[in-house]
Amino acid sequence: MGEPAYAPAQDVIFMPPVDRFGCAESYYATLFHEMTHWTGHTDRLKRDGVVKKAFFGSEQYGREELTAEMGSAFLCSLCRVETPDTEENAAAYVAGWLAGWLAGTAPVHPGRFGDGCGKSGAGCGEGGGFPHRFFSGRRD
Ligand SMILES: [Zn+2]
Repeated sequence: MGEPAYAPAQDVIFMPPVDRFGCAESYYATLFHEMTHWTGHTDRLKRDGVVKKAFFGSEQYGREELTAEMGSAFLCSLCRVETPDTEENAAAYVAGWLAGWLAGTAPVHPGRFGDGCGKSGAGCGEGGGFPHRFFSGRRD
Protein backbone atom coordinates (compact mmCIF):
# COMPACT_ATOMS: atom_id res chain seq x y z
CA MET A 1 0.00 0.00 0.00
CA GLY A 2 1.78 3.04 -1.22
CA GLU A 3 -1.15 5.32 -1.81
CA PRO A 4 -2.56 7.79 0.64
CA ALA A 5 -5.84 6.48 1.93
CA TYR A 6 -8.35 6.58 4.70
CA ALA A 7 -9.39 3.10 5.88
CA PRO A 8 -12.79 3.39 7.59
CA ALA A 9 -12.74 -0.14 9.04
CA GLN A 10 -9.52 0.65 10.87
CA ASP A 11 -10.29 4.36 11.20
CA VAL A 12 -6.76 5.15 10.11
CA ILE A 13 -5.23 7.50 7.56
CA PHE A 14 -2.27 6.15 5.64
CA MET A 15 0.13 8.69 4.17
CA PRO A 16 3.36 8.19 2.30
CA PRO A 17 6.30 10.21 3.62
CA VAL A 18 6.37 13.84 2.61
CA ASP A 19 9.42 13.31 0.43
CA ARG A 20 7.30 11.20 -1.91
CA PHE A 21 5.39 14.34 -2.85
CA GLY A 22 6.69 17.05 -5.11
CA CYS A 23 6.31 19.66 -2.41
CA ALA A 24 4.98 20.06 1.12
CA GLU A 25 1.85 21.81 -0.18
CA SER A 26 0.91 18.73 -2.19
CA TYR A 27 1.46 16.53 0.85
CA TYR A 28 -0.84 18.66 2.99
CA ALA A 29 -3.48 18.98 0.27
CA THR A 30 -3.58 15.19 0.11
CA LEU A 31 -3.56 14.82 3.89
CA PHE A 32 -6.46 17.27 4.15
CA HIS A 33 -8.33 15.23 1.53
CA GLU A 34 -7.89 12.07 3.59
CA MET A 35 -8.74 13.92 6.81
CA THR A 36 -12.01 15.01 5.23
CA HIS A 37 -12.81 11.36 4.47
CA TRP A 38 -11.99 10.69 8.14
CA THR A 39 -14.77 13.07 9.22
CA GLY A 40 -17.32 10.76 7.59
CA HIS A 41 -16.62 7.83 9.92
CA THR A 42 -19.56 6.28 11.74
CA ASP A 43 -18.34 7.80 15.03
CA ARG A 44 -18.33 11.27 13.49
CA LEU A 45 -20.51 12.55 10.60
CA LYS A 46 -21.64 9.13 9.32
CA ARG A 47 -21.48 10.03 5.62
CA ASP A 48 -22.80 7.29 3.35
CA GLY A 49 -19.68 7.46 1.18
CA VAL A 50 -17.58 6.40 4.17
CA VAL A 51 -19.96 4.31 6.25
CA LYS A 52 -21.41 2.27 3.37
CA LYS A 53 -19.45 0.34 0.78
CA ALA A 54 -19.20 2.58 -2.28
CA PHE A 55 -17.88 1.34 -5.59
CA PHE A 56 -15.42 3.36 -7.63
CA GLY A 57 -17.32 5.44 -10.15
CA SER A 58 -20.63 5.19 -8.32
CA GLU A 59 -22.63 8.29 -7.48
CA GLN A 60 -21.99 7.72 -3.79
CA TYR A 61 -18.26 7.32 -4.33
CA GLY A 62 -18.13 10.45 -6.47
CA ARG A 63 -20.04 12.45 -3.91
CA GLU A 64 -17.60 11.41 -1.17
CA GLU A 65 -14.62 12.30 -3.36
CA LEU A 66 -16.13 15.71 -4.07
CA THR A 67 -16.68 16.19 -0.35
CA ALA A 68 -13.09 15.22 0.45
CA GLU A 69 -11.61 17.44 -2.22
CA MET A 70 -13.73 20.42 -1.27
CA GLY A 71 -12.69 19.87 2.34
CA SER A 72 -9.08 19.79 1.24
CA ALA A 73 -9.50 23.01 -0.72
CA PHE A 74 -11.07 24.78 2.26
CA LEU A 75 -8.41 23.53 4.66
CA CYS A 76 -5.62 24.48 2.27
CA SER A 77 -7.06 27.96 2.02
CA LEU A 78 -7.51 28.20 5.78
CA CYS A 79 -3.94 27.07 6.40
CA ARG A 80 -2.56 28.98 3.42
CA VAL A 81 -0.63 26.04 2.12
CA GLU A 82 -1.94 26.17 -1.42
CA THR A 83 0.02 27.14 -4.47
CA PRO A 84 -1.34 27.91 -7.94
CA ASP A 85 -0.39 24.35 -8.91
CA THR A 86 -2.15 22.70 -5.99
CA GLU A 87 -5.20 24.87 -6.61
CA GLU A 88 -5.21 23.84 -10.26
CA ASN A 89 -4.81 20.19 -9.29
CA ALA A 90 -7.72 20.42 -6.85
CA ALA A 91 -9.90 22.23 -9.37
CA ALA A 92 -9.19 19.58 -12.00
CA TYR A 93 -9.98 16.82 -9.54
CA VAL A 94 -13.25 18.38 -8.46
CA ALA A 95 -14.20 19.07 -12.08
CA GLY A 96 -13.45 15.48 -13.03
CA TRP A 97 -15.52 13.97 -10.26
CA LEU A 98 -18.32 16.46 -10.79
CA ALA A 99 -18.45 15.76 -14.53
CA GLY A 100 -18.47 12.02 -13.93
CA TRP A 101 -21.02 12.32 -11.18
CA LEU A 102 -23.36 14.42 -13.29
CA ALA A 103 -22.95 12.11 -16.26
CA GLY A 104 -23.36 9.00 -14.14
CA THR A 105 -20.04 7.65 -15.32
CA ALA A 106 -16.58 7.09 -13.93
CA PRO A 107 -14.59 10.23 -13.17
CA VAL A 108 -12.72 11.97 -15.91
CA HIS A 109 -9.74 12.62 -13.66
CA PRO A 110 -9.65 9.93 -10.98
CA GLY A 111 -6.17 10.53 -9.63
CA ARG A 112 -5.82 12.85 -6.70
CA PHE A 113 -2.42 11.79 -5.58
CA GLY A 114 -0.13 13.52 -7.97
CA ASP A 115 2.26 16.35 -8.04
CA GLY A 116 0.51 19.61 -7.55
CA CYS A 117 3.79 21.37 -7.50
CA GLY A 118 4.69 21.95 -11.08
CA LYS A 119 7.21 19.15 -10.77
CA SER A 120 6.60 16.17 -12.94
CA GLY A 121 7.67 12.72 -11.98
CA ALA A 122 7.40 13.37 -8.29
CA GLY A 123 7.03 9.65 -7.74
CA CYS A 124 3.68 9.99 -6.12
CA GLY A 125 1.21 7.21 -6.28
CA GLU A 126 3.40 4.44 -7.59
CA GLY A 127 4.67 1.51 -5.71
CA GLY A 128 5.86 2.23 -2.27
CA GLY A 129 5.13 -0.01 0.62
CA PHE A 130 5.47 2.61 3.25
CA PRO A 131 2.13 3.21 4.87
CA HIS A 132 2.47 5.76 7.59
CA ARG A 133 -0.13 5.26 10.23
CA PHE A 134 -1.09 8.84 10.62
CA PHE A 135 -3.65 8.77 13.34
CA SER A 136 -6.48 6.71 14.59
CA GLY A 137 -9.82 7.66 16.02
CA ARG A 138 -9.80 4.60 18.22
CA ARG A 139 -10.23 5.21 21.86
CA ASP A 140 -8.38 2.75 24.01
ZN1 LIG B 1 -10.55 10.43 -1.65
